[in-house]
Amino acid sequence: MRILITGAAGFLGSHLCDRLLADGHEVIGMDNFVTGRPENLAHLAGHPGFSFYRHDVSNFIFVPGKVDAVMHFASPASPNPQSPYGYFNLPIQTMKAGALGTHNTLGVARAHRAKFMLASTSEIYGDPNVHPQREDYPGNVDPVGPRAVYDEAKRFAEALTMAYHRYHGVDTRIVRIFNTYGPRMDLEDGRALPNFLKQALLGQPLTVYGDGSQTRSFCYVDDLIEGIVRLLHSDEHLPVNIGNPIEMSVLEFAETINRVTGNQAGVTFLPDKRSARDPQRRQPDISRARSILNWEPRISLEEGLYKTIPYFKQQLGLA
Ligand code: NAD
Ligand code: UDP
Repeated sequence: MRILITGAAGFLGSHLCDRLLADGHEVIGMDNFVTGRPENLAHLAGHPGFSFYRHDVSNFIFVPGKVDAVMHFASPASPNPQSPYGYFNLPIQTMKAGALGTHNTLGVARAHRAKFMLASTSEIYGDPNVHPQREDYPGNVDPVGPRAVYDEAKRFAEALTMAYHRYHGVDTRIVRIFNTYGPRMDLEDGRALPNFLKQALLGQPLTVYGDGSQTRSFCYVDDLIEGIVRLLHSDEHLPVNIGNPIEMSVLEFAETINRVTGNQAGVTFLPDKRSARDPQRRQPDISRARSILNWEPRISLEEGLYKTIPYFKQQLGLA
């Protein structure tokens, strides 16, 4: 297949490029580098199957030649209010990538009779009041809350994707991605894993927000990409959760990172960031992925951390 991947210079987009090229497909990357980095794609320079366009997906997209699949991954994604790369500080770009970018990429898919995949998110469930989250749970999102620019853009994007499927017959997929980590994450984006791993490797205490009782489930990137590729090759049009169902508190997560890295500095508790409506619990129900895609994560947290540490050391100048 000849596959257009938007957000190709980002964390997930760059891993997706690698995987689809390794599977023998041709990949056209597209990105405007608002949060992604050229270094994430540097190793693909000169690859015969890879080409790249620097372009903002909020503007009309023209791709010469045939396109068999469009995978729309372009969007700021970090919820950290302090990060210049987080969606709090890129609110309009975030809404445009989710709304106009989804419209434009669906238009490319329709024009080329190509498959389409939307990278959606667990954030569409908001601060969920059912647990774990199944795909038929409609979510608990405040449309004017601080996270709304991201959550509502993705909810709109899902609705538009289903509209193109139902009205125009476009062959669409929606993946709802839960917290994922691995090499090429931005060390400075302020999410829990990059903060904790960086702090641990520098021998500093890990900054746990609140009392650390809020929960998350962390999926290693290779597991996530495998689920996404299986979904691409499936016939499923309704949303599918892809993430790791092993739930742990943020404090437990921090302690695991200290143990794996041998960091003796412990943790420090900082004022609760949940004033920004930090979801209290999050855990995917992956029954649909298990039954439709025969997929579940295989890489344990310890194993995933060992695979991620060399990248962090290299970025920190410790390797
Ligand atoms: P990332 O910031 O590393 O990658 C996003 C990429 O999109 C960046 O390279 C950025 O420059 C590009 N981009 C943003 N707006 C653009 C625009 N208007 N035009 C062109 N390019 C644009 O983030 P990521 O973690 O790789 O996330 C990728 C996708 O997966 C996003 O859609 C995100 O919402 C979704 N997602 C990620 C996670 C996660 O845990 N990483 C969880 C849920 C959903
Ligand atoms: N968190 C933390 N310390 C940090 C960064 C994050 O305790 O240095 C917490 C954060 O409050 C949240 C969880 O870790 O409860 C996951 O946050 P992240 O920013 O990774 O993404 P989210 O799951 O909120 O989208």
